[in-house]
Amino acid sequence: MGLLSLGTPLPWDQARELAQEVRKHGIEQFLHIWNNMKDRKRDRLLWGDEIEYMLISLDHQRRRARLSQRGHELLSLLQVEETESLERASRTGEKIELEALWRPEFGRYMIEGTPGHPYNSTVNDLVNVEANMKRRREIVAQLMDENEIILSVGSYPALGSGDFFDPPHKANGPFSRSLFLPDEVINPHPRFRTLAGNIRERRGSKVAINMPIFHDLNTPRPFVDPAIPYTRDLFPEDKEAREGAALPDHIYMDAMGFGMGCCCLQITLQAPNVDQARRLYDQLATVGAVMMSLSASSPVFRGYLADVDCRWNVIAAAVDDRTLEERGQVKLAKDRFVIPKSRYGTIDTFLGSSDGHFKPEYNDLELVYDRDIYQHLASNGIDDLMAKHVSHLFIRDPLVIFEELLKQDNSVSADHFENIQSTNWQNVRFKPPPPNSPIGWRVEFRPLEVQVTDFENAAFSVFTVLLARAILAFGDLNLYIPVTKMDTNMERAHSRDAVLREKFFFRRKIYADDSSSSGSEAEGEDSEADKDQVVEMSANEIINGSPGFVGLIAIVEMYLDTVVLSECVRRKLDTYIAFIRGRADGSIMTAAAWIRSFVRSHPAYAFDSVVSSEINYDLVVALDDIANGRRQAPELVGEGNAC
Ligand code: GLU
Ligand code: MG
Repeated sequence: MGLLSLGTPLPWDQARELAQEVRKHGIEQFLHIWNNMKDRKRDRLLWGDEIEYMLISLDHQRRRARLSQRGHELLSLLQVEETESLERASRTGEKIELEALWRPEFGRYMIEGTPGHPYNSTVNDLVNVEANMKRRREIVAQLMDENEIILSVGSYPALGSGDFFDPPHKANGPFSRSLFLPDEVINPHPRFRTLAGNIRERRGSKVAINMPIFHDLNTPRPFVDPAIPYTRDLFPEDKEAREGAALPDHIYMDAMGFGMGCCCLQITLQAPNVDQARRLYDQLATVGAVMMSLSASSPVFRGYLADVDCRWNVIAAAVDDRTLEERGQVKLAKDRFVIPKSRYGTIDTFLGSSDGHFKPEYNDLELVYDRDIYQHLASNGIDDLMAKHVSHLFIRDPLVIFEELLKQDNSVSADHFENIQSTNWQNVRFKPPPPNSPIGWRVEFRPLEVQVTDFENAAFSVFTVLLARAILAFGDLNLYIPVTKMDTNMERAHSRDAVLREKFFFRRKIYADDSSSSGSEAEGEDSEADKDQVVEMSANEIINGSPGFVGLIAIVEMYLDTVVLSECVRRKLDTYIAFIRGRADGSIMTAAAWIRSFVRSHPAYAFDSVVSSEINYDLVVALDDIANGRRQAPELVGEGNAC
């Protein structure tokens, strides 16, 4: 999750003094990249995925599953090969060939895995994705103790509840000051605890995350969480929960780890050039919500069933460093802006591209941006939409500043730019080429929840890539909706069973000569307003189409029909598409629905929303069995899609 630098991170009172300096140099670095790279052309459509896993230790005798501190140790072992190969390559110039790369994540129990090098750009190569994901699981498994497993699921059900961490630690750490999470759950690299501490200090209070409880038959009304240690008096912040930060009828969480301790599946796609990257960014942003609802895998938080299925809002609240002034709760005096959203959330502004589809009214959110930075960018030749995008990202302060890295040569480094960019965690991220590297303009698709099995993770990755390819191949495809509608979609995508029960705003006509939806061909040309109509559709309609709407799968299939594929490859891709179709039409459950139903049918469940450690153990074991093919779950992965 962003830039890892070595050195001494500054505490907030010192970092805040340097914010302006970092922003100033960050912008110079962006301008440098822009000027050097804007004309870069014909980059290959390379892409990659990132899967975040949790290491869990099982105590079969006591029937306990706990997140394991050893995640970090395993990560160090996993990285040895890469470090050695890099070292060798720098001496001998040989090419590095690794199956996987391993990266740290916020949780000490987390491990992030990516393919060792980007996947090739051909569609035929898409069939290698699942095998690589499987290999990653095997590589980690080789290093695990007998009682350890890795799980890929959005939220760990017991995080912050009871005896959830191995080895156990008291929740009394100075960085999070959490009532529930010890600082030992945080990755020991200083960046991560500084992020947690500086977010809390910048905000002026602990983060307050409240997710609605799922009211089951015996859940008290109102639900007031008996597990909150209201009377603790260790840190000045300890009174926040009793003074209103913890809402009734909600699951209250008070630390960055509750959010950034969740796992996701991200896809990064290289575009042929900057213009196509802008097109991808805009078009993919609009499908994020519906895709997230299909991938939902986070129905339990802090040991309680939630009335949501996704992690997204939890993370948004978990890194919300806005002050009271910035949140509009007191009048603006010391701070610079009132900011409507957290640093983690949906994008606020589209970038536009030469496809001609963008209209200013799609950017219908009153954009908060740094006017001085905007002016500076504009006077250096950056167009309006790109200047707005960057000067919007730069309303944020850098959260972690390493003293040793303050002085940089802006013509070769992007560290200051990346400092701000990588702590703007949005549904899509526009990624300029790093200086001095062969990498081109990229877009990262970030809303997907991670899936339990490699088959599902491969299916979501492949479907996203195919949709992106269709977007690039069919210039008349137009998925724009206003930004505020995209925000509403993302809100809706969270709710329990959103994939079946919600409607999402979507464009009624998604390609220029789309007459399928209006029935008005006989009446001649559609009016502009008619073409621009945004309507509410179910996930099923958006993905699978309806009598009035073509559907995203049909678009992907149209694209596939333009590519020469072996029958075997096409058959494999069809299984992924069929799986996505099944998720959208409800014939295949989301992991969130599966987990909820597992909990509710567990003999120890008292229909009171409580996911006890015993239920948690059985659940974790069942998910691991599914992930490793020891338990068949066609209701989750689709008939015949065994792992
Ligand atoms: N774990 C975060 C999520 O679930 C993402 C962190 C990252 O940016 O890699 O969205
Ligand atoms: Mg990550």
